[in-house]
Amino acid sequence: MKIKDLEFKKFITAAKINEKIKELGAQLNEDYQQKKPLLLPILNGSFIFAADLIRELKVDCRVSFVKHASYQGTQSSGQLNTLIGLNESLFNQDIIIIEDIMDTGLTLSKVINEFGTLGVKSVEIVTLVRKAPARAHAVQPKYIGFDIDDEFVLGYGLDYDGYGRNLKDIYKALLPETTK
Ligand code: 5GP
Repeated sequence: MKIKDLEFKKFITAAKINEKIKELGAQLNEDYQQKKPLLLPILNGSFIFAADLIRELKVDCRVSFVKHASYQGTQSSGQLNTLIGLNESLFNQDIIIIEDIMDTGLTLSKVINEFGTLGVKSVEIVTLVRKAPARAHAVQPKYIGFDIDDEFVLGYGLDYDGYGRNLKDIYKALLPETTK
């Protein structure tokens, strides 16, 4: 399949994603049974994952979408803009950050640092995908859908320059080794 200038091939099927989301939902239901977590999906990429995961939850919870942008094309720009859209007070809350994919870990570590000053009760991360470089990072998600190599992926909410979010499966780019 071609999107813009890149070839992609199917990588993680919709069926596998659905199965994994049920597992993650069951873990969260178990771990948060006595709590009322505030879920913070990070837009845009996590919107489909969040919608599916949240519908697996049986605990009392609230959802507030937040947004930043640190990615252009297939390379992380290394910049993180301030989070926008956060209208709730995080004080004394059990926060669950819902991320689509963790690559360098820069985005999540900045978000976690920002939260550190806000008096949260607890903060955990659930990420659908963790890429190889993220495994070396100090900040680690407690809940991980899929561990993958350093591939550029799209589909199921993840985009390539805005395209591909609508795909039900996750695809990986067939990149020349030098640009990975
Ligand atoms: P990090 O700060 O961990 O390097 O990057 C995290 C963000 O970069 C993710 O939330 C996601 O938006 C974007 N990202 C990282 N890797 C990929 C990828 O393989 N595909 C897509 N579509 N986005 C990615």
